[in-house]
Amino acid sequence: KVMLFWFRRDLRLDDNVGFYQALQNNAPVLPLFIFDTEILENLPKTDARVTFIHEQIQKINHQLSASYGSGIVQFHGAPKAVFKKLMKDYDIEAVYANHDYEPYAKKRDAQIKVLLNENGIPFNTFKDQVIFEKEEVVKDDGDPYVVYTPYMRKWKENLDPSVHLVECDTLSDLSKNLYRTKSLPQLSLEDMGFEESSIKVPDFTVSSELIQKYKDTRDYPAKEKGTSRLGPHLRFGTVSIRRMIKKAIGEKNETFWNELIWREFFMQILWHFPHTVNASFRPKYDRIEWRNNQDEFEKWKAGETGYPLVDAGMRELNETGYMHNRVRMLVASFLCKHLLIDWRWGEAYFAEKLLDYELASNVGNWQWAAGSGVDAAPYFRIFNPTTQIKKFDKDKKYINIWVPDLQELSYPEPMVDHKMARERCLKTYKEAVS
Ligand code: FAD
Repeated sequence: KVMLFWFRRDLRLDDNVGFYQALQNNAPVLPLFIFDTEILENLPKTDARVTFIHEQIQKINHQLSASYGSGIVQFHGAPKAVFKKLMKDYDIEAVYANHDYEPYAKKRDAQIKVLLNENGIPFNTFKDQVIFEKEEVVKDDGDPYVVYTPYMRKWKENLDPSVHLVECDTLSDLSKNLYRTKSLPQLSLEDMGFEESSIKVPDFTVSSELIQKYKDTRDYPAKEKGTSRLGPHLRFGTVSIRRMIKKAIGEKNETFWNELIWREFFMQILWHFPHTVNASFRPKYDRIEWRNNQDEFEKWKAGETGYPLVDAGMRELNETGYMHNRVRMLVASFLCKHLLIDWRWGEAYFAEKLLDYELASNVGNWQWAAGSGVDAAPYFRIFNPTTQIKKFDKDKKYINIWVPDLQELSYPEPMVDHKMARERCLKTYKEAVS
């Protein structure tokens, strides 16, 4: 008999709730990872996130085989077919995993549960990637919060560190309860039709110093270590959220902690309002007559709008898979408001490029920028792409990194006049929403 622990977006051994729970049984635990063809087939062959996931799986496998004579069994396929094969190859007592709240994942897990249950196998899943999930932080009448500040207050009120921040000591159970096996075959990126990306996920910094200074540094894209770069690590679970929250609340400055709560705020929005992946949270905003000019969209994507801070952001995204939050807000506002291009187009482009791409946060923030979402920027708040430079990059340090051609003749003129675009936006939005 074996227990399977299915790794998904929790790619670490320590303080991993589902893995820990699996290890508390008598039967040995065999870790599993599925390179899901239903997700991978839509991605470019050099996708940097696939390279990152692959590296993490190799790392975990190496740790498990070097220290414990175990490993991680890997497949490239559709989860249902993989589980059918696993049920033939192993006598499975139960399957363990952590909750995943995205619409695709919910559907996938529901199907796998049915398949396993039909074969008498329980599918046990746990909360791991957030402190509070689903209905755990709601208004007194049970309705979900759609405004951040009261949600954040209630989140903090509900937090009991002795319950919610306890880490599970997975590592000390590894030696006794892992399934021992001869080395398991490893899948290479090439086996799956992928190539190694030259874009790498950087390490993160969450030091006391960063948290203390964060409030003053977080808005300046040129500042080194002004933000944590935690995004992809939280996305793929290479770090535990409990550990990060503990660090955050150990410091006096709450700004960093509050950002981690924004992440959970958008996750619960997606949970309660899954239709907002494609539809505006405020339905009136789907009446906006987007111009959706393809040539303009291409210029925005390439960072050739003629607005240096917008271009710097887009070029940083294209080259590194990252863009600073300040600049994300600006490029998103520019796309929706200056160019009147549907937020869904921008959301899809970010989804393709961001290493920290997270459906809930991406949709939530894009809808915030477009004005159509929960707790969104009012539609008449239109960032001025020139004055934003004075506020956040006044020495042009950030711009000079990403737009070295700024002084050259080849650098484009602004693709649209700010004043005209602003008026056009106000008129179009007003017609739709008032
Ligand atoms: P830090 O500033 O160090 O913050 C720490 C962590 O807090 C982040 O890693 C993230 O998990 C969380 N966080 C911070 N700000 C936000 C926020 N506004 N919303 C939700 N969580 C937040 N963040 C994503 O994780 N994935 C996305 O796909 C994503 N898309 C975005 C799209 C737009 C248009 C905008 C304006 C913002 C988006 N963000 C997204 C939020 C934010 O820009 C990034 O989380 C942040 O820039 C990542 O850098 P960092 O890890 O250094 O963040």
